Amino acid sequence: MTWWGRAGHDVEVLTVVPAIAPTDRDRELASAFRRHDLDFRDDPGTRAMYSSDASIYRIPPRGVVRPRSADDVAATLAVCRELEVPVTSRGAGTSIAGNAIGPGVVIDFSRYMNQVLAVDPQARTALVQPGVVHAVLQREVEAAGLRFGPDPSTHTRCTIGGMIGNNSCGARSLGYGRTSDNVRELEFLTAAGEQIRTGYDEAGRPVVTGGDRIVERLGELMSGFLAVGRTEFDRFGRQVSGYAAQHLLPERFDLGLAMVGSEGTLGVLTQASVALVRTPPHRLLVALGFADIVEAGTAAPLAVAYSPTACEGLDSRVVDVIRERRGPGSVPELPDGRAWLFVELAGEDRDEVLDRARKLAAEGFAQDARIVDDPVASARLWRIREDGAGLAGTAPSGKPAWAGWEDAAVPPASLGAYLAEFDELVTQHGLTSARTATSAKAASTCGWTSRSTVRTATAGSASSSATRRRSSRGSAAPVRGARRRPGAQ
Ligand SMILES: Cc1cc2nc3c(=O)[nH]c(=O)nc-3n(C[C@H](O)[C@H](O)[C@H](O)COP(=O)(O)OP(=O)(O)OC[C@H]3O[C@@H](n4cnc5c(N)ncnc54)[C@H](O)[C@@H]3O)c2cc1C
Repeated sequence: MTWWGRAGHDVEVLTVVPAIAPTDRDRELASAFRRHDLDFRDDPGTRAMYSSDASIYRIPPRGVVRPRSADDVAATLAVCRELEVPVTSRGAGTSIAGNAIGPGVVIDFSRYMNQVLAVDPQARTALVQPGVVHAVLQREVEAAGLRFGPDPSTHTRCTIGGMIGNNSCGARSLGYGRTSDNVRELEFLTAAGEQIRTGYDEAGRPVVTGGDRIVERLGELMSGFLAVGRTEFDRFGRQVSGYAAQHLLPERFDLGLAMVGSEGTLGVLTQASVALVRTPPHRLLVALGFADIVEAGTAAPLAVAYSPTACEGLDSRVVDVIRERRGPGSVPELPDGRAWLFVELAGEDRDEVLDRARKLAAEGFAQDARIVDDPVASARLWRIREDGAGLAGTAPSGKPAWAGWEDAAVPPASLGAYLAEFDELVTQHGLTSARTATSAKAASTCGWTSRSTVRTATAGSASSSATRRRSSRGSAAPVRGARRRPGAQ
């Protein structure tokens, strides 16, 4: 069967799910879910829709459960445990490394478990269900002058559960940290059905309720990897791929933080309390123009020295894609150059922010600079970056181009050299690419058209002034059927 549809909120899929007659095991799975009165679907259309996320991968699941409560999640896990079916949690499915697809049962949190349960403006926290969309949370808290700090380009669709699943960052993680820097309390269920709560006591020490055996086992496990855990992890802000094993070290054991970025492979999140940050009243954008993306990347650490809340780079190929798709008027006037850094400065005092912007613009490392003080004009510029990453997923020729080189984590000081070598590599293979770079997220994406031409790529740098928090002790168990490496986005 060929099916065009929409999975999660915005992922278009064209997938063939063979109309094979259900096996006895399929029937057993469906009837077990129905006995528990779960919203379970295994028709070919649903399986086709959920076979895709924003990645190049296609894996039809056996079926999809859309839980209404944590009890539904527990019942789903119990059935899957009994029948030995792998589980994949899913928010909006906007991850780009096949994170939200799998061959067993997909649990879609976006359908019903999508509420903001409480907001505490004094404590600056929000209690949310995992399927709440980032932009919905933002709308609920903005009247109190607050926001959830990390904001991926997909903020209009992506869910807080998905952000916790892959430790999302987004443009403003320079100012507000990664998702892991913004979680307070987590509730999750393990594959074995144990409920675990993580949080902090009044002195700020991590606490874990439930999962004693798991906590103990994790401590034992890490005792064999202490040197690696202490020296190889968390060396720079955007080193978030793989399990965050540094949080399992005895000197700072924090199970909650170790869960963030584990892609649903250690447990299924059913509720989260997240930190909110105050929005600084004054904010402006400095757009810097460079000869190419390598120069822009080389200058990024210099721009970061001005304490921006965001520092994002993009080259003319991304801009060209937008102009081609949306018309010449779609891109506002940019400083001279073939690549740009967009540097957002924010603060309490307008004069101080403006002064910082003027100094940055006068630094002389860019060939041209523009200070954009008007929020409407700067929003239009940010749209280039937000839309560019998505639009560059289609070749300028109009042919589909699939991402293939994603989220390379690069320390900011090495960014220019990385981008130069990446360009060489792409050229050696007779391919073309379009890149975006973010000082908070290191990413690069290449896509192949149906023939052999790579058409799109986004590349980025890494750096985050993400603040690190507390430490202590905790642990977890693998959800059966764990998929790809954790941390890939
Ligand atoms: C064009 C484009 C731009 C992007 N820009 C950015 C960016 O700027 N910064 C950035 O960080 N990312 C970016 N991304 C990647 C992605 O959009 C974000 O990481 C987003 O936050 C993922 O949220 P989601 O709800 O779609 O999660 P999903 O893709 O649905 O899931 C993400 C992971 O979390 C797990 N998960 C979901 N729900 C749960 C749960 N309840 N319990 C346990 N695990 C769970 C999933 O299994 C999966 O491993 C971009 C993607 C695209 C396509």
